[in-house]
Amino acid sequence: MIRIPDCIFCLIAAGKIPAKKVYEDTNVLAFLDINPLSEGHTLVIPKTHYETISHMPEPELGGIFGIVKKLATKLKDNLRADGINIVQNNFKAAGQDIPHFHVHIIPRKTNDGILRIPLGKKAEGDTLDQTLRKLA
Ligand code: 5GP
Ligand code: ZN
Repeated sequence: MIRIPDCIFCLIAAGKIPAKKVYEDTNVLAFLDINPLSEGHTLVIPKTHYETISHMPEPELGGIFGIVKKLATKLKDNLRADGINIVQNNFKAAGQDIPHFHVHIIPRKTNDGILRIPLGKKAEGDTLDQTLRKLA
């Protein structure tokens, strides 16, 4: 288990900082976000320190998303939410404040206005094809 001494989520995983635990197994911990966007806003983390999705080994990533699915369903049912956002920020530019991989599960109510990914501008000309070529 790789842990970074001054990482808040490593300290939570090690039980050195308290957290309101929603789920725990050998490799994964889920706990309530301390600044919830809505009731039940939950963070799911690997207990091992991986910085971003790109650093996560695929089996661990798959395991985490299996748990995210179960928790998202439970949060929606038990808190009578109307919807659920799964948000996962990677790197500072994308709004990742804590550099320890985590998945946000955010229960939503109709018209709560919490979060919406804005529509971009309609792609012009062959820009989408140019993008595809960069990804080939
Ligand atoms: P990020 O912006 O990195 O995707 O999200 C980090 C999240 O961690 C934020 O929503 C923030 O409220 C939450 N957070 C930061 N410090 C703590 C803490 O000590 N305990 C808990 N439970 N959540 C935290
Ligand atoms: Zn960490």
